[in-house]
Amino acid sequence: MRQSEEKYRTLIENLGQGIFLQDREHRFVAANAQFCKSAGRAEGEIIGSTETDLYDAARAHAHAEEVRTVLTEGRSVESETEALAGERRTCVRRVLTPVRDATGRTTGVLGICWDVTEQRRLEAHVHQASKMDAIGQLAGGIAHDFNNLLTVILGNLEMMLPSLAPGHPDHALVSSAQSAAVRAAALTQRLLGFSRRHQLDWRPTNLNGIVTEVVGLLQRTIDPLTRIETHLGDELWAVHADPTQLNQVLMNLCINARDAIGGTGQITIETGCVAVTDGPPAKRGDFVRLRVADTGAGMSPEVKARIYEPFFTTKDVGKGTGLGLAMVFAIVRQHKGWIDCYSEVGAGTRFDIYLPRSEEAKVVAAPESLPPSTRIGKETVLVVDDEELIRKLAVMTLQGRGYCVLQASDGKEAVELYAREKDRIDLVLLDLTMPVLSGREAFRQLLDLNPRVKVIFASGYAAEQLSDLEKEHMVGFVKKPYRPNELILAVEDAFPWRSGLRHEVPPVQVCTPPAVAVA
Ligand code: ADP
Ligand code: MG
Repeated sequence: MRQSEEKYRTLIENLGQGIFLQDREHRFVAANAQFCKSAGRAEGEIIGSTETDLYDAARAHAHAEEVRTVLTEGRSVESETEALAGERRTCVRRVLTPVRDATGRTTGVLGICWDVTEQRRLEAHVHQASKMDAIGQLAGGIAHDFNNLLTVILGNLEMMLPSLAPGHPDHALVSSAQSAAVRAAALTQRLLGFSRRHQLDWRPTNLNGIVTEVVGLLQRTIDPLTRIETHLGDELWAVHADPTQLNQVLMNLCINARDAIGGTGQITIETGCVAVTDGPPAKRGDFVRLRVADTGAGMSPEVKARIYEPFFTTKDVGKGTGLGLAMVFAIVRQHKGWIDCYSEVGAGTRFDIYLPRSEEAKVVAAPESLPPSTRIGKETVLVVDDEELIRKLAVMTLQGRGYCVLQASDGKEAVELYAREKDRIDLVLLDLTMPVLSGREAFRQLLDLNPRVKVIFASGYAAEQLSDLEKEHMVGFVKKPYRPNELILAVEDAFPWRSGLRHEVPPVQVCTPPAVAVA
């Protein structure tokens, strides 16, 4: 008996959960070590006392109420109580069950309680992450459709413009419609970036170049009272990144800094190589650090805790979208890096972004020299896209440039056509997302027909991150929405001997979308 009792006592005393027994008069008759610890009393003080002796009035009342329910109704009661333990907010879960004697009468209450603070924190984290994912998916779905529509809108406008003399009353209308559409395209790209579905342009990137570019842009637009200072690290390691996305990251951080300063102050941008040797394993290794510090208003801990939440903003309606830092977070995570933020009200803010050093050596393949073609200017391009409007636009653009154009509205049709006409077709422009036979499958079948087939892929998605095989064999990639000029440039790149002809056609105006940041 004694041995057995000893065994149970050891078990109970070593449990991480607090365990106690209360009788019908609410007096504690037993309590294990963990319970005594959480109540902050010695066992001797606890035995014989009731809730009122141990807790403040409100908590004692709530606990007494629970015990009463168990005693009178003979059923279990569960509850969760939040309390402030010093600085730390804790959450404690309690389960009370009735204790019965041999006749079935409830003689007391057995209670178990444990700290669920960490669990609740993790749950909130997961909840937050899934919210971000849901928004990403929603945004990506809409953005994909928008992309297609914008390709058509932009293309048509671009074709209209040259036929209108600059003084023509419609010229201004069409060109303002065009710049609005370019802006919309930039927005769509951001949404796609958010959902991680658009084609990212990964390459070894030097962050110093990005900083110089963004600072150049900002200096022209920011209040002259706000100084921008840069300290660029020497011999900075390259990072494996999409430069456009990093541009976006820096732009957002700087615009937030500008808003926090609101007049006189300083933004300092720093880059440097950091070798992290301690801390969690995932954060060890060689990193390039991008630091953006400002002398602005700073943040309270409550604000700081929520800054990466999509749509969280402290700015007035119309001023903030609350998407800036959510994007920054998504992009940095996509680049396998992380962000540290230091901020205090009145003492400014500092963001440190760590991006892993690129392993990649800069290997640039030697350009393959092609024999001069005897069919200059008569190359035949097969345009494959299931979206009729986009296909038409591509066909018109290429025909206008002197190419012969064949078209197919899905992968299957494209493969059949290629099988028949492969001696004539010099290049295939292949949309990646198509019904019947996807661009991806069609490409494989094209390779079977001709291992040297020249393909330019068109897509707005990154879900279809190209495989090595595809990258090796493609001669170009156009990101949707593309404008006629971008398509021409990509196609022309596939035919280097054609560049000598470029002077014969109107100059290609490449209008880069204005750098807009979700600030
Ligand atoms: P938005 O700028 O549209 O409000 P963000 O996601 O970019 O959305 O930022 C969210 C919030 O984080 C801002 O509203 C602001 O309260 C806070 N914040 C971000 N950067 C800074 C900064 N550098 N200094 C002070 N507060 C900042
Ligand atoms: Mg912002």
